[in-house]
Amino acid sequence: MVTMYYEKDVNRQVMEGKTIAVIGYGSQGHSQAQNLRDSGFNVIIGLRQGRSWKQAEEDGFEVYSVGEATSRADVVQILLPDEVQAKSYKEEIEPNLKKGAAIFFSHGFNIHFAQIQPPADVDVVMVAPKGPGHLVRRVYVEGFGVPALIAIEQDASGQAKEIGLAYASGIGATRAGVIETTFREETETDLFGEQAVLCGGTSELVKAGFETLVEAGYKPEVAYFECLHELKLIVDLMYEGGLEYMRYSISDTAEFGDYNTGKRIINENTKAEMKKVLAEIQDGTYAKNWILENQSNRAAFSARRRIEKEHQIEQVGKQLREMMAWIKK
Ligand code: NDP
Ligand code: MG
Ligand code: MG
Repeated sequence: MVTMYYEKDVNRQVMEGKTIAVIGYGSQGHSQAQNLRDSGFNVIIGLRQGRSWKQAEEDGFEVYSVGEATSRADVVQILLPDEVQAKSYKEEIEPNLKKGAAIFFSHGFNIHFAQIQPPADVDVVMVAPKGPGHLVRRVYVEGFGVPALIAIEQDASGQAKEIGLAYASGIGATRAGVIETTFREETETDLFGEQAVLCGGTSELVKAGFETLVEAGYKPEVAYFECLHELKLIVDLMYEGGLEYMRYSISDTAEFGDYNTGKRIINENTKAEMKKVLAEIQDGTYAKNWILENQSNRAAFSARRRIEKEHQIEQVGKQLREMMAWIKK
């Protein structure tokens, strides 16, 4: 059975007199830092000179260089993009870590794949909200919280979990529930989910459906609505009440098609490929490729990003969304 933590399991005293440095002020950084501050914690921001620096100051935070913020903090939450964390850690964080400090992550990649190897005398903790940053902030302001995962990789202080739960409560997560996991489980399932289902799987499913209709002579605009736009309505229903509620809400004609056609599209071959994808995540092949890609200055990544932008569905979508002024940017 899974272990869950709630408000009643939190001892905020453990953070008394402590300073939290949130390193990075992007999607997760801005939301976690603001939630922690509103929860009464002492928060400072560590950044490079850049766009976020101004934003963090405008939001009323004390902003320091990454090294300076680290040297002032008891808890250092690293919310830089995963692919720059290792370098920043080596050059700015590690040399400035206070004795007995705790380092925090919101994703396990760099610890699990050994890109960051902290000294034995610090706590290494993950608190990973299960939602994008703007939602972490919005839901907190509304008085609730986005659920999170917690994992302890290293417990040097003997208090790592208490500190982790206090942090999780500060971002609002214990209002919803915090699930205990490991760095390995979070990293591997996160990578698999985004590649096979959420991002990779869904993007290709949408494109393949769109292309099939357009190649058969249907209007690209109509194909766009059917294969991309309406996906949100379906996913919202799943999010609210699972597959059953989605199927309850659609027509019986659509439900009959769901049962009869779905398995012809996502079949045993798809699942066999998913297993290979998972194996390559588990054995480090995917991580190695992504690290090397970054070291090569992202040659293949940049080319692919450009090619994807040129896809007809993106061109058509841009025009159609201009007609739909109610869709917020
Ligand atoms: P973002 O890309 O949104 O933010 C990055 C921040 O880091 C920006 O403030 C940027 O500042 C700063 N930054 C970038 N490079 C450097 C550098 N070399 N030195 C100092 N500051 C730098 O990151 P995310 O919030 O998306 O991701 C942070 C972590 O959270 C990752 O581990 C990610 O896996 C995890 N996570 C993210 C989720 C999400 O919804 N996005 C969900 C759950 C976990 P500048 O303006 O100067 O570029
Ligand atoms: Mg991810
Ligand atoms: Mg329809």
